[in-house]
Amino acid sequence: VPVEQDDPGRRWYEPGVFTVAPGVHRIPLPLPDELRAVNVYAIEADEGFTLIDSGLVLDTARDQLEAALKDLGGGLGDVRWFLVTHAHRDHYTQAVAVRRDFGTRVSLGIGEQPTLAIVSDPASAPYREQLAELRRHGASWVADAVAGVLPEETVPHTAWEMPDDWIQSNAILTVGERTLEAKSTPGHTQGHLVYFDRAASLLFGGDHILPHITPSIGLEPAPGASPLADYLDSLRATQLLPDARLLPAHGPVVASSHARIGELLEHHDRRLRLTAEAVEAGAVTAFDVSSALRWTRHERALDALPPFHQMLAVIETLWHLTVLETRGRVVSHERDGIVHFTASQTA
Ligand SMILES: [Zn+2]
Repeated sequence: VPVEQDDPGRRWYEPGVFTVAPGVHRIPLPLPDELRAVNVYAIEADEGFTLIDSGLVLDTARDQLEAALKDLGGGLGDVRWFLVTHAHRDHYTQAVAVRRDFGTRVSLGIGEQPTLAIVSDPASAPYREQLAELRRHGASWVADAVAGVLPEETVPHTAWEMPDDWIQSNAILTVGERTLEAKSTPGHTQGHLVYFDRAASLLFGGDHILPHITPSIGLEPAPGASPLADYLDSLRATQLLPDARLLPAHGPVVASSHARIGELLEHHDRRLRLTAEAVEAGAVTAFDVSSALRWTRHERALDALPPFHQMLAVIETLWHLTVLETRGRVVSHERDGIVHFTASQTA
């Protein structure tokens, strides 16, 4: 297996197995959406592989994982432990499927308990909470459009099962000779964990810090009261760890976790400012504000995005408005079932 070099000619999502540090291998697995792939990281140890994240439960992903492990001299039966960063389908559900065949241990952050209880319940409808939020925030037609594409965006509730154990924040995990520190980083999801290998200076960042895109915030059935506030706190907490190579779940390995955290903090500062200005200019609902803003690095209008991404945009705007309300910049009140925002008189 070749050691991974910075190679601008190769795209990060191309299949294969790439050694990113001694005994640590990046295995991109396919996704059926614009993210293209999710990186699973295989850590070698005498007792077998530990995998950070597992991929989406998908035949092609499983075949590629098996082929990659074969290149490393093993197979799915040699995976001893799945350390999953969070309970999104592209990180968690293949671990559950592999466990059914091999009895592999699966661990997840304890903060994901409420979400997992909902998604594994046969009575729960996918994104029910988000669709209700969209309607409360002036985006009923987005909710209707999203309802039509949900089969592409979800897995059946049977793909979800409880993990073997729940990892506490600041847990110290032993993987062969290696020590991993599990750090609670709520924001992307409530129970998101990053795994920090201090000795090797490697940060397995999950979706907390992505190199090319800004992670969605609080897209889960049981989000906290202010997921963006949590996320910004988690970024600052991660910045207090020593700078490290960032091993992200989507995108290429990058040299400095600190550099990317700085960019993400700056991005949200700018978005908070633009969000406040949109309310001051007369936008009333989270949907109005989302329509006034531009989206993605291509600066697209909201209605130029596919429905699922319009949902992400409106929900992300809502979390920015929630932070601005905490800071006293805007106030909200509900009228006829719709939440209205106005600029604070005292601001
Ligand atoms: Zn995620």
